[in-house]
Amino acid sequence: MRPVRFNITPKEAKIADSLMMAEMPEGHSGEGFFATKLSDVVGLARKNSIWPLPFATSCCGIEFMATMASHYDLARFGSERVGFSPRQCDLLMVMGTISKKMGPVLRQVYLQMAEPRWVIAVGACASSGGIFDTYSVLQGIDQVIPVDVYVPGCPPRPEAIIDGVMRIQDLVQNESIRRRGNEQYKELMNSYGIE
Ligand code: SF4
Repeated sequence: MRPVRFNITPKEAKIADSLMMAEMPEGHSGEGFFATKLSDVVGLARKNSIWPLPFATSCCGIEFMATMASHYDLARFGSERVGFSPRQCDLLMVMGTISKKMGPVLRQVYLQMAEPRWVIAVGACASSGGIFDTYSVLQGIDQVIPVDVYVPGCPPRPEAIIDGVMRIQDLVQNESIRRRGNEQYKELMNSYGIE
């Protein structure tokens, strides 16, 4: 019988090396206690449990599929629970060409998401219309919804998408729990006609 060959080199795995520990927020510690800000604790939990909603319309979506698959494995960042129900997700990932007809649909999905919510525009099309400078393509999703992070590329490689998710993680961790109620945020929403 022909022997089965695997194209991998077995390595001795040390469990301590394969565990990724979340960094502790800044605070004061002493014997038997640790004190920090509520915002930091909430940020730490949110950062490591982001639920993405992939809104993929074309080729950039394929890169996202690679990002979710075993080689790049977005689950390592606590984002393995990808969902298509806006009410449960907190990160809208827009990947692909968005036509003007699709704009209201995208906006509706955004509106259905509960606060706090974040948005990544993945790739040139979602960020600026890309090569499709035509009458039918939205020249950037920030014309209909606010965007937190733009990932450049046509298409961006999975590493770039992961970098975008990590930039979102930084925003999530450092966001004050009062931000969504402040005047500046309300002004931003009002500028998009969202109350
Ligand atoms: S940015 Fe490039 S790869 Fe991504 S959807 Fe547009 S044309 Fe396709």
